[in-house]
Amino acid sequence: PDVTLTEYVIGGAARFGDATALVDGRTGETLTYAGLRAAVTAGAAGLAAHGIGPGDVVALMSHNQPSFVVALHAAIATGAAVTPVNPALTPGEISEQLRLSGARVVIAAEPVADKALEVADEVFVLGEHPRARSFTSLFTDGPAPRLDLDPATTVAVLPFSSGTTGIPKGVRLTHRNLVANLAQTRAGWRIGPDDVQAAVLPFFHIYGFTIILNSGLLGGAKVVTLPRFELDEYLRTLAGHRVTRAYFAPPMVLALATAPHVEDHDLSSLRFALCGAAPLDVEVTERAQRRLGCLIRQGYGMTEASPGTHQVFDDDFASTPPGSVGRLSPNTEARIVVPGTDEDVAPGETGELLIRGPQVMAGYLDDPDATAATITDGWLHTGDLVRADEDGVFWVVDRLKELIKYKGYQVAPAELEAVLLTHPAVLDAAVVGVPHPEGGEAPKAFVVTAQPVTGDELMSFVAGQVAPYKKVREVEFVERIPKSPTGKILRRLLRP
Ligand code: ATP
Ligand code: MG
Repeated sequence: PDVTLTEYVIGGAARFGDATALVDGRTGETLTYAGLRAAVTAGAAGLAAHGIGPGDVVALMSHNQPSFVVALHAAIATGAAVTPVNPALTPGEISEQLRLSGARVVIAAEPVADKALEVADEVFVLGEHPRARSFTSLFTDGPAPRLDLDPATTVAVLPFSSGTTGIPKGVRLTHRNLVANLAQTRAGWRIGPDDVQAAVLPFFHIYGFTIILNSGLLGGAKVVTLPRFELDEYLRTLAGHRVTRAYFAPPMVLALATAPHVEDHDLSSLRFALCGAAPLDVEVTERAQRRLGCLIRQGYGMTEASPGTHQVFDDDFASTPPGSVGRLSPNTEARIVVPGTDEDVAPGETGELLIRGPQVMAGYLDDPDATAATITDGWLHTGDLVRADEDGVFWVVDRLKELIKYKGYQVAPAELEAVLLTHPAVLDAAVVGVPHPEGGEAPKAFVVTAQPVTGDELMSFVAGQVAPYKKVREVEFVERIPKSPTGKILRRLLRP
């Protein structure tokens, strides 16, 4: 539909009235749909009276909590764009994101407001703070600003990519991009007023704010927010709120697969569990879903695609193979090409995924060269290696950039990580390429263990299951694997 993001997500909320829209899973604070809509309108009127409007950028820096959602949609409803900021960033990094995005105003959660005050001229606080105005003090009764903007060309959100492979990239997503992707995912997910969604993955990342938050509000579900993932608190939240739809990143699934006491919680309300953001091993998936009592299936996407391109529809959960990322979302086209060429691979073969559809970004922030290199004739180059079967089900192999080149061969780190995770002593693993005298480059594993095991034992365990050129040639034991807030292995921090 040709509407703004806030009209689409919050405008329809009127019909859910006094039903609960948001619950703070820690404090128990709740906001009804009517309350959310009123707060968004009052916030938008206040920001507009303060001079914020089309062409402006508002930075929003907060952990997951109901007031994040009010601030997000209030700012967007003024016609401004919102750039969500990871609250864990340092003042220097925040300052850089403000500069790149051109943000004039920061709305910051109370615990991180001091950092924002260090680097920004104008800060409004979610909560109370001695040196800054609270965001709610802006609220005015006036009507929401009337907008005359083109949803197809106006940027609504400027999220940054995760920075897994390098410096995070600012991504320009229009109202149309985001509305289209919500409509696409909604086509296959039946989210209704009886649903309860747990939202622990960060709202500052697109998976959190589109797939988890906005999809839930659009359906009239109750969205329970948690500021971070702590297994016990998370399980208590799932049971206590009778959560029906859970959204994971791989480390959460790994924790569920290995934790000792998952079965102590009554998780019988769960009927949908989605994992995305990084490769997820099949064996880990099966172990975790047995303990949850609910199937876990994957979706796939990227910040540049608003973010979803592949999903498993509710009706297809049982029939879609675990380990796959499901089928293309509606109104989305894909090609699989020989990397570095414009040639399609033979059916069933692996190649780079290209995506075309209304959810493909308007471009990178201030980087026409990177945009031109990434989108050609409307086709978004994902940088990911995939294959598809004859039923249109896709599998993600790994990122093109992360492949290890041993002699003439290419080795996908995700495949070796999956094998390592099946070893009973291994809790977590990451594989990177390191210089190797004959191979040029060879796989090295970083491993977190639960019980004593030698590197040689792990290397022969892997060697027993993969072709010789894929052998792990070095093992290092570590306390933990460095990961992004959405659970992506930060291999660049492990490379020599
Ligand atoms: P950057 O582009 O800054 O290096 P990033 O690519 O990790 O970081 P995001 O846009 O958050 O930033 O993530 C998109 C990427 O996540 C995809 O390109 C893909 O590599 C990975 N991904 C997402 N879903 C899946 C999945 N189900 N299986 C495997 N990988 C996935
Ligand atoms: Mg990327």
